[in-house]
Amino acid sequence: MRHIDNKKVKTKKEHKCVGCNHKFPLGTEMEVNKYVMDDEIKNDYWCKTCQKYADKYMRGEFEFLPGELKEGEGREEIRKETKGE
Ligand SMILES: [Zn+2]
Repeated sequence: MRHIDNKKVKTKKEHKCVGCNHKFPLGTEMEVNKYVMDDEIKNDYWCKTCQKYADKYMRGEFEFLPGELKEGEGREEIRKETKGE
């Protein structure tokens, strides 16, 4: 996997967060992680809660199953902080 870019966007359509698998409507501020895997450019969308969660608990480890971050320990606390999903 080769990382290309990370940027904050306001979504122009509905996107699923890779961390919690929750669908977020257009107009949501999300972070896009762009990378190449198997010669394909991929865009992963991250909601605010999952961004914080990953920063705090995953230390750059991005091996998880889609939706797995929803179940993570300590998430409830972060969700309250960000008022996210
Ligand atoms: Zn999320």
